[in-house]
Amino acid sequence: MKQPVVLIPIDTYDEDQVYTAVRQGVELLGGMEQFIRQDEKVLLKPNLLARALPQKAITTHPAVFGAVCRLLKDQGYAHVSYGDSPGNPTTTPEKATDTCGLAAEAAKHGVPLADFNGGSVVHFPEGHTAKSFYLCHAVQEMDAMINICKMKTHALERITGAVKNLYGCITGVNKATGHAHYPNSDVFADMLADLNLCVKPRLHIMDGIVAMEGNGPSSGTPINMNVLLFSADAVALDSVFAGLIHLDPAAVPTCVSGARVGVGTMNYDEIEIITPSGTLTMEEAQQKYGNPDFDVFRGVMKKGLLPKVMPLLPFLQHRPKADMKKCIACGVCEESCPVPEKAVRAGHGQKAKYDYKKCIRCYCCQEMCPAKAIEVYRSPLNKLLGGK
Ligand code: SF4
Ligand code: SF4
Repeated sequence: MKQPVVLIPIDTYDEDQVYTAVRQGVELLGGMEQFIRQDEKVLLKPNLLARALPQKAITTHPAVFGAVCRLLKDQGYAHVSYGDSPGNPTTTPEKATDTCGLAAEAAKHGVPLADFNGGSVVHFPEGHTAKSFYLCHAVQEMDAMINICKMKTHALERITGAVKNLYGCITGVNKATGHAHYPNSDVFADMLADLNLCVKPRLHIMDGIVAMEGNGPSSGTPINMNVLLFSADAVALDSVFAGLIHLDPAAVPTCVSGARVGVGTMNYDEIEIITPSGTLTMEEAQQKYGNPDFDVFRGVMKKGLLPKVMPLLPFLQHRPKADMKKCIACGVCEESCPVPEKAVRAGHGQKAKYDYKKCIRCYCCQEMCPAKAIEVYRSPLNKLLGGK
């Protein structure tokens, strides 16, 4: 049987229209009761990466989050809570929910904030790469999760969607430690795939009405993609997102790792895209709803090239780079850097200064910089030597 991914076209965050779209999306997938019983404890996991206003497109929009709350309440789900552990070390779940507009929505629908501050180690011997996780209490206490992710680019994993959004289940500083443990995009994606197997969300809803392109996941540019996506399969959903922005899912580490360990499928022959006006192939969905100009890194290092160009590696490797005109010397990059000896130094009047020999290219600094001062420098030499 094919994995269904529902695509609902919608170009507004008008509350009632978003509610209608969310209800229709879940219905087209078979109805909420297909995934979650009414007596279960439901945890909503939006993207609350940072303390950011909704229009910045960094976090799940309150209208989408509110629509899911309302739908659950309308359908008799009595035990619903929500939360996320922000990536930014300078904020808390409470502050992030407030600024992002989710606290107000949650209050309106009587949905309490769950405990994303504390956590403990959960062993996961079935993991292929990660055998344990430091999971927030809220995640350990729920029966069923609805993952309400945001459609964005990501410096490390190219895109962040359903699979990556679960990283907020890890408590505060342990997220930075995870980057040091899994220090490149492939092993980090392997860990995320295991995290998905461990947490097992029942349903994924992606807010792609206004997405983020370019220097994501927090310093990019909002762009209208005008879709909501729904699926029980995180990899299939992320693969449809990739297809819409003309990015091969085989170039997305979280899709590759997720498919390999059985989180889901990235094979379009195994995915059915359902819309209110009928079923589409990925090619048809791409033509109708996609954007070939969406700013995302589509380049690849030519296979077998790496050993030949080792001496050039420092010039070929992508790396974070700070714009001194934008840097406000806040020190957040140094604080976010998971390398114990710190690959970037800043703060107390000093602007960001990198030591690339120590840098593991995790891009936590780029993700957390409040001034959008850090970009990923991608060497043109890669292209000259046969990469794309
Ligand atoms: S680069 Fe960004 S995070 Fe680092 S000190 Fe400058 S403004 Fe702060
Ligand atoms: S400098 Fe930035 S990219 Fe390099 S290891 Fe530190 S946080 Fe990661």
